[in-house]
Amino acid sequence: MATMLDRSAVQSSQNVWEMAQQQLDDVAALIHLNPSVHAYLREPKRVLHVSIPVRMDNGTFAIFTGYRVQHNMSRGPAKGGIRFHPDVTLDEVKALAMWMTWKCALVNIPFGGAKGGVICDPKAMSMQELENLTRRYTSEISIVIGPEKDIPAPDVYTTPQIMAWIMDTFSMQQGYSVPGVVTGKPLSIGGSLGRDKATARGCLYVVEEALRVLEMPPQGARVAIQGFGNAGLHAADLMAMRGFRIVAVSDTRGGVANPKGLDVRGLIAHKSDTGSVAGFSGGEAITNRDVLECDCDVLVPAALEKVITGDNAGRIRAKIVAEAANGPTLPEADAILHERGVMVLPDILANAGGVTVSYFEWVQDLQENFWEEEEINDRLRRKMVRAFRDTYELASKRNVDMRRGAYAVAVSRVAEATTVRGLYP
Ligand code: NAD
Repeated sequence: MATMLDRSAVQSSQNVWEMAQQQLDDVAALIHLNPSVHAYLREPKRVLHVSIPVRMDNGTFAIFTGYRVQHNMSRGPAKGGIRFHPDVTLDEVKALAMWMTWKCALVNIPFGGAKGGVICDPKAMSMQELENLTRRYTSEISIVIGPEKDIPAPDVYTTPQIMAWIMDTFSMQQGYSVPGVVTGKPLSIGGSLGRDKATARGCLYVVEEALRVLEMPPQGARVAIQGFGNAGLHAADLMAMRGFRIVAVSDTRGGVANPKGLDVRGLIAHKSDTGSVAGFSGGEAITNRDVLECDCDVLVPAALEKVITGDNAGRIRAKIVAEAANGPTLPEADAILHERGVMVLPDILANAGGVTVSYFEWVQDLQENFWEEEEINDRLRRKMVRAFRDTYELASKRNVDMRRGAYAVAVSRVAEATTVRGLYP
């Protein structure tokens, strides 16, 4: 299957959960984290493993495996997306849940961190099978989710339609509509304006801040993007509208490059017609791997984890790496990039726009009062710029890279909330 082959071809084999724990350990020393709090934060609070029987179109039942992991809830209900992918593992979901805790703390929204995943290949399933899978998975995890407990959202290969099925299933069980149980919903059932582009928009805002502090002009800045889904496609579109030049993009089937700049709207139409950016006539074919190493100013990994490794970090030519994806850079690669003067805008900062507008969606649902898109984008900009400045200030003061800076801000906030609440019983 293309997705699985492609993924193993580009990703390192380091265990992603160990990588997430290592990132926490790295910052624990920097902020003199209390060893007991450190030990507590190294593990998830709760892990739910579910078997999901699904009626398939051919009349048989298939049994899928799914997870919901809640890492920490000291600052509020848990929040995090649901991933449908053939390569989902419990360790991956645990890592993604931990990153959500730090992300919510960094942008200072009152949530803890969670994540969900189902091992499945949505591309090989019919809409009916996907609906059956989503509804039964929701039912199985309904014992731990809810607007005051844990609020899922979209992630890789999950869509607003899937969020609508989650909302409906949970609501049917309660006997009344509960829009606040999930975010990233269609507008007609309590979704928020601006949510679809929020991850990309937040990424754009922090890239603009980074260009400003590095004194690089945004006009004509050359951008390469790996992954052309919700995060990557909208990042290309928004950045092109701001005058950036998109010079290379790729997805599971391959990529396309043009040093003079790709016609992004043409590319989006091509992807909508063919399902991929590969084969677009407005540039040269390029491999998924080459996109990472191409000549550009800003590299935006927007697909999966562990693609920037000790092996290729020395060949990355961008001055800024903006992690729209979660966990694209291994710790060993971080060190190489920092030494080479590349500014890495870490995932917990660069892709926090999605969860920030998810928070706005949840607030609007609870208040039953909906805001204009301009207000949402304006609030998002203020949150992102503030998070960038908190990170940059700490990183500069302590002379560390931006990931350690962001972790120091975020982990300190979570540690403070955990400590002040104390230990029950
Ligand atoms: P998506 O399903 O909309 O798109 C994924 C894209 O990545 C597709 O274009 C797919 O072809 C491509 N892809 C998959 N495997 C690939 C591979 N091996 N090489 C190259 N391309 C590959 O998913 P998304 O929501 O855009 O998520 C992408 C990343 O962004 C993930 O790491 C996700 O956790 C992160 N993220 C997403 C959001 C959000 O709001 N959607 C928020 C925060 C972080």
